[in-house]
Formats: sequence, structure tokens, C-alpha cells
Amino acid sequence: MEKAVLIGIITQQQVEKVAIESINELEFLALTAGAKAEKKVLQKMLKKNSKTFIGKGKINELQIFIESQKIDVVIFDDELSPTQLRNIERILKCKILDRTNLILDIFAFRASTAYSRKQVELAQYQYLLPRLTNLWTHLSKQKGGIGMKGPGEKEIETDRRVIRKKISLLKEQLRKIDIQMETQRKKRKSMIRVSLVGYTNVGKSTLMNVISKSNVLAENKLFATLDTKMKKVVLKNTPFLLSDTVGFIRKLPTQLIESFKSTLDEVRESDILIHVVDISSPNFEEHMNSVNQTLKDLNVLDTPQITVFNKIDLFSFTKKDSDDLTDWEFKNFDLEYWKKTWMKKTNNNSVFISAIRKKTLEEFKDLLHKKVCEAQAIRYPYKTITY
Ligand code: GDP
Ligand code: MG
Repeated sequence: MEKAVLIGIITQQQVEKVAIESINELEFLALTAGAKAEKKVLQKMLKKNSKTFIGKGKINELQIFIESQKIDVVIFDDELSPTQLRNIERILKCKILDRTNLILDIFAFRASTAYSRKQVELAQYQYLLPRLTNLWTHLSKQKGGIGMKGPGEKEIETDRRVIRKKISLLKEQLRKIDIQMETQRKKRKSMIRVSLVGYTNVGKSTLMNVISKSNVLAENKLFATLDTKMKKVVLKNTPFLLSDTVGFIRKLPTQLIESFKSTLDEVRESDILIHVVDISSPNFEEHMNSVNQTLKDLNVLDTPQITVFNKIDLFSFTKKDSDDLTDWEFKNFDLEYWKKTWMKKTNNNSVFISAIRKKTLEEFKDLLHKKVCEAQAIRYPYKTITY
């Protein structure tokens, strides 16, 4: 484990509550990548400092801590500009990463097929190219570790010329694969296609496994699934294709959205989306918002959706005295409250389940079956459909 310091800011755009959630999530991301947070710093600022991200005084202060505690890496919760990166590196003289970098690193580690390896490699190099500094190259060559892994644990290239060549080669190779994949997708056109979407670690792969009796890797890590896994599922004699997709996360690097085009195309071309939500997380509504933002970016808000509130076995709430106002937003709402609210908001297109305990899965299967039949009726209006 590398020793890390995490840094975020509270601004008018990013209020305190959101900033805290975000830095806690960064801590989980760091842990997934192999770094333990020794210190988390949140600074209140009017706006980010264009030269050093947080205040210069704060950076100088940190320098002492970093040296005395032998910190390996400092991770910023937002994307740093090349200038910020250079300036901060000069003062702190240790490995500096930002959220994007960290996510790319985890993706690099998780990529398991030739296709996703190429996608991640391209995103990494596109991110890296404008940020290469001599100091960075020097420091990271010495240290390796987080932020330096390419797909398949190879060290990433730091020579500008080589990188440029690699970028164009990767683009060319990916373009060819994309064309092949498009052809494959066309062949599947006759089947109704359903995609699982949602924040990372909410239980998409687990749900895929229980519904399709398949064996997709599910674990308590961020981004365990990078490649789209697809399975043919038959519910009450109605067949359809179910895909498990990459999880979304706050501030998902744009380089990744671009290079994961085919994976996201599966979502784009789906007839039905199953939005899986981890209702045991106090931030679940926020997570839903960032998933919806990505769905909006993908232009699929009109695709019929089922919202699955998962992990109800973990849902707990404590009733407090009515005069205790702390944390009232979350803690005093019980499952019944959420059910009522969300059934209404989603027009009854939601279910509350526990994928792991197989609770109320029948209700979910019924709803999914109904949606698949509806999608079929739209596509093949001349066929008689039996519910
Ligand atoms: P994904 O990232 O959305 O694909 O999530 P996974 O399916 O990999 O699950 C993430 C973690 O949540 C795993 O450790 C699962 O065992 C756990 N998990 C999934 N569903 C449930 C559930 O209904 N209840 C509980 N307690 N844990 C669950
Ligand atoms: Mg998964």
C-alpha cells in the first residue's frame, strides 16, 4: 500500500456536503488502486487557484507533512490542469495524481480483454500527453506504482514522440474493432436488448448473475466490470439479451467516455434500461443524479427504464426524537417512505430488492417481463403477445 494525502475543495459550485462525499469516494477509489489515505484535506475557497489548485500557503504546509510522514502520493479530487500539476509537483516533490488519473489507473488494472485494454491505454495517453513534464517523468520512473501502470501492469510510456505514434495506432485499431462490434450488434437486432446501468458497486453484476444464472465477477470493489458481459435470458418463455455494463461514477473522465464508445453504444441501443441503485448508501439519490446525467449525455433518457433499489437487507434507519434535527434527511425516512416516494416518481416502474438474499426477486422479474413484452409489442406489433 502506498501512503496518500487526499485533497479537495469546498467552493460555491461544490458545497460542503458534496465535497465530503466526493473525497470519501476518492478515498475508496484510492484504496481500490492500492493507496491508503493518511490525511484528507478539504479547503474552503471562493474558486480554485489556477496555479496551485488550493492555496499556495496550504501546499507549503503540506510539504512539511509529506516529507516527515514519507507520503508517496498526493491525490487531488478534481482534474488538475497541466500548469497546476507542474507547479504543485515543484513544491511537493512527490507523485501527484488527480481523480481522473486514479480512475484511469483502476481501469488499466481492471481491463481484461484486448479491446478494453486498448480503450484504457488510449484514454491514458490522451490524458498524459499534455501533462508530461520532465520532473514528473523523472519522479515516476523512480517510483512506479499507482498512476504508472498501463493495462496489463506494463509501465506506461513517457516519451512524447512514442506516445503520439501510439495514440494514432490505438485509434486506428479501435476503429476497426468498433466496426466489427457494430456488425455484431446489428446481428442481434431481432432480440430485445436490456442493459443494467448504475453507479459502481451497487450490485449490477450480482443481479445479472441471479437473473441469468451466469457467473459474472461481482465484488466489493469499484469497477469490477469493465467489459460488457451479455447473456441470453428467458423469462416465462420470453427471451431477451441482458448486458452488464461498466459502472458510472461522479466526474467520470471524458477520455473514458469517448474510448468506451462501444460499451456505451450497447446502452445507447438498448430497448430497456435497468437502473440499479444501492439504497443502503446514504448518497444514493446523488448517485442516481450522476447516473442520470451520464444517461442524458448518452441521449437515452427516453428509453423505458426500471429502477431497482437494491440491498434492502442493509437498509437501516433509526427513528429519532422529533426535536432532533440532525441528519433528518436520511435517518428518519424508512423503507416505506422511499417506496411510496419512488413508486410515484417512477410511475410504478421501480422495485425494492436484495439481489444477494434473493428477496422480492419475483416482483422484479415480473416487472422486467412486462417491460420486455411491451418492447416487443412496439417492435413487432403484428405478433400476439401473451403476458
Ligand atoms: P456492480 O459494481 O454494480 O457490478 O456491483 P457488484 O454486483 O459487483 O456488487 C458489489 C458488492 O455489493 C458485492 O460485494 C456484492 O456482494 C454486494 N451486493 C450486491 N447485491 C447486494 C445485496 O442485495 N445486499 C448486500 N448486502 N450486498 C449486495
Ligand atoms: Mg459489475
